[in-house]
Amino acid sequence: MLTTSARQLFDHITHVISSIYEPEEARSITFWLLQNKLGLTKTSILTDKVITSVAAKDFNDWIARLLRHEPIQYILGETEFRGRTFRVNSHVLIPRPETEELVEWVLEEYKSAPVKNCRILDIGTGSGCIAVSLAAEIPGSEVWAIDISSGAISIAEQNARLQHVAVHFRQIDILAGNLPEEFPVYFDYIISNPPYVTIAEKDQMLTNVIAYEPHQALFVPDDDPLLFYKVIASFSQSSLPERGKLFVELNEHFPQETSTLMQSFGLHTTIRHDLFGKPRMLCGSLSA
Ligand code: GLN
Repeated sequence: MLTTSARQLFDHITHVISSIYEPEEARSITFWLLQNKLGLTKTSILTDKVITSVAAKDFNDWIARLLRHEPIQYILGETEFRGRTFRVNSHVLIPRPETEELVEWVLEEYKSAPVKNCRILDIGTGSGCIAVSLAAEIPGSEVWAIDISSGAISIAEQNARLQHVAVHFRQIDILAGNLPEEFPVYFDYIISNPPYVTIAEKDQMLTNVIAYEPHQALFVPDDDPLLFYKVIASFSQSSLPERGKLFVELNEHFPQETSTLMQSFGLHTTIRHDLFGKPRMLCGSLSA
């Protein structure tokens, strides 16, 4: 056991990990770690009131993992998405703020034109952050969510349980095209954050993404950035009712191509930029 003050522990970890993180980020990661693992509050750390005993092994293990660029969210086993806690592990992408904005867009649409018994499908659900958030926020909704990865489905199921919502999860490869017979014939909203990163973009990605997050969830197969969007557009064409809406996250480098593709399937499209000012989301509908 290591007996130290909370402040000393904070300063030590911040100092060590600032070899790989910017000072501000090093501080917020350390706060997050100490709050989550030791139950320390920000005030107790900053006022240096608390003397804490930490197993030295745990403490060294966390630092070693951070220094290997492992995302703090995987070390904690959880993250925040729109104010809710979601479990995450290496089977699922860590939810991004852009995806929070995608969910926001769906909720805006719902509020402007509420749909009774709203049927929702989330394609490539990962941690389940989209499906579970919508199930929690759209009263009376019937939410379905699919993913190719059994590891992802298992985490997503845990997240639905933790948030006390029911979601119909199925392990399915959307590219293989054999959707379950029990699937509803139509969905009011189809939502997806599919893999959309191309090989050319790999070099610019951070080590904490490339070395830890699931490549199957990030990179497009055959290096075709539109592959998933073709399948999603075709499915939407046959499964959206007149007033139904498709919402997808997209690669900032291909907004026009994605939009043109969607239009070739009869969808009218609108593109939105994310908080970083990049074209990131598209909404499609069969009616103008
Ligand atoms: N936006 C994510 C990233 O930059 C990628 C998400 C995705 O491929 N759907 O890492």
